[in-house]
Formats: sequence, structure tokens, C-alpha cells
Amino acid sequence: MEFELWYLIVVPVLFVAGWWFRGLDQRQREQEQRPGTYYKGINLLLNDQPDKAIDAFIEVVKLDPETIELHHALGNLFSRRGEFDRAVRIHNHLLNREDLPTHERSLALFELGNDYLKAGIYDRAENSFQRLLKEPEYRLDAMRALLKIYCTEKEWEKAIDIANTLEKQAGENHQMEMGHFHCELAVQAIRGKQFDKAKEQLQKALEVDRKSVRALIMLGDLAMLAEDPKTALEHWSQVEKVSAEHLTLVMAQMAKAYEMIGQHEQAMNLIHRALDDHSGVETLSIALDLIAKSEGEQAAQKFLKEELIRRPTLWTYEKLAQLRLKANPEDTELQLLVTLLKPYVSRPGRYRCAHCGFVAKGFQWLCPGCSSWGSYSPKREEEV
Ligand SMILES: [Zn+2]
Repeated sequence: MEFELWYLIVVPVLFVAGWWFRGLDQRQREQEQRPGTYYKGINLLLNDQPDKAIDAFIEVVKLDPETIELHHALGNLFSRRGEFDRAVRIHNHLLNREDLPTHERSLALFELGNDYLKAGIYDRAENSFQRLLKEPEYRLDAMRALLKIYCTEKEWEKAIDIANTLEKQAGENHQMEMGHFHCELAVQAIRGKQFDKAKEQLQKALEVDRKSVRALIMLGDLAMLAEDPKTALEHWSQVEKVSAEHLTLVMAQMAKAYEMIGQHEQAMNLIHRALDDHSGVETLSIALDLIAKSEGEQAAQKFLKEELIRRPTLWTYEKLAQLRLKANPEDTELQLLVTLLKPYVSRPGRYRCAHCGFVAKGFQWLCPGCSSWGSYSPKREEEV
């Protein structure tokens, strides 16, 4: 009887001890393995072998799930490599671990928002950043990310609200962007033929950004739609005062408006002023059209000859050759000259973003390359 009792107590104790010692042995082996694998991962990263580094880090995370920093590093590595599903899985894992301190989980939520943002899943990114608005540590960064999302999603009213809050709470200046947001709302209103609403938005654009060239140009366009060239000229004249180089964007319409109200002299004054200040293919082309229409092709030829003396360019010479050929269509030498010159001058100049260098055929208020507002020079790059 006594023997049986002894047996019942000792056997389980030995079993538990064996299990514990086996666990200790395994833990020791893991601790020995962990630094080796960790340094191997770092080495692979330094040697620009991110694939192998990821494998090594996964191994460490398996051996010791408490290594939060490694989880973050691994998640960011996946995110940077464009493997967003893996990054999301890691950041979600951290976010859902209730044993972690709040700031670690907030960081995971912020990283998760960035994963979704980079992957282009904007509704989920918006949701992550909205949740972070309650966290003082991430509030401002979350608002900056939300501003990007609202611009991409063309949710201009929400963008205006966030930009306003950022101005108040972070002391940042978003006036120029807010001016564009109101202009974008005006563009939407014009598409819906809500012209009064568009005008209201353009006035608001000028309230937040007195130098909004775009709002002035659009107000002029609206006046022309209402067949009111006088009011259009009032708005467009402001463009030159605010930013003289943007005059090229409205010069053709201004000349047309002056002609409509019978002020040919004013139109010519404007063209000559523009030529003196910003002579480029754009300005020359508008001037040439205007002179040819109002004063005839002889006057246009005279204008081009003067321009060639002032600033000789291939473009001006080709235009002159074209006009001469028009007057003498049988002249074979002129025909040959125009044919030879054409390939060199037929391409119109492009517009370039001063911020990232993205080149576009048409003038852009928002860069399609780097999403900067107002970064395009209104002058085309001369290709002749
Ligand atoms: Zn750009």
C-alpha cells in the first residue's frame, strides 16, 4: 500500500522535472541561436540582401515573439519592398496584441495606415488615421496623412477642414493649397453648370490666398462664359499684378476680350508688354496670330523679321518661311526650306514641375508626379 503511494507521487514529479529540464535546454539553445540569427539578419541587410535578411528576421521572431522592435523593423522592410500584404499582417498582429503598451499599438496602427496608403487602399488607410486622431502622439502625422488621402480622393471639403486644423494646431501654412482646394470645388461646380456656386468658391479661394492666380483666371473664364469680357479683363488684369509670368496663361483670352470690346490698341499693348517681359514660343505664337488676324500677313512678316533681329530662333525663322511660302506657293526653294525645318520645330514645348521634374504637355496646377500644388512654371520649356 505504502509502495503504491510513493509510486503515485514520485512518477508525476519526475515527469514534470523532465519536461522542465527539456524546456530549459531548448530555451538555452534558442537564446544561443537568437543573437547569431539576429546579427546574420543585420549583416545581410548591410550587404543589400533584403530577401535573406527577411528570412533571418522571421527566424528570430519565431524564437522570441517578444521582440517587438524586430516586428516593426520586419513590417517596415516588407512595406518598403512593396509586399504590403505581409507588412499589413505583421502590423495587424502587433495592433491586436492586447498585452502590448498603448504606444506600441498606436505605432503599429500608424504603420498599418501607411501600408494601406502605399498599397492604394484609401478607405482602410483613412480608417486607421481617423482612429489615431485621438492619440496626441500621432494626431498631427495622422492629419497630414489624411490630407494626402483627401487630395487623392478629391474630397476637397474634407481636405479644407484638415488643412484648417493643421494651420491652427501645428502652425503650418496651407493657404496656397487651400486656395487650390476651393478652385477644385469651383471646377466641380462648373462641370455641374452651377456657376454661382463656382463663383462663391473662387471668392473663398481668394479669401484664403490673395495671390491665387488660378482663382483670378477662373473668375475671368466664368465672366467670359457669361459673355462679359469687361469683367473678365478686370480679373485677368489682376493676374499680371499678382504674378507677371502667369500672364502667358491668359494672354490669348485677354487679347480676344480686348478685341471683343473694340480695344485693339490695348490688345497690342498687352502683347508687346508680354514680349518684352517673357518672350517665348507661347507669347510669340499668340502675338503672331493676333497680328495676322487684325493687321494682315504682311504685318505678321514684318513682326517676325523684327523678332529675328531681336532674338533669332529656329521657331521664328520657320514661321517666317511659312508665311513667305503662303504668299509665294510656287517657290520650290521655300517649299524645301519649310519641309527641312518642320521636324525641328513641330513639337510644342512642355511644362516641367520645378519640384520633381515631371514633364507634361499641358500646364498643371497639381503635379501628377509628386502631388505638389503650383510647382509648374507657366513657361513652356523651349525646344527650338
Ligand atoms: Zn512634381
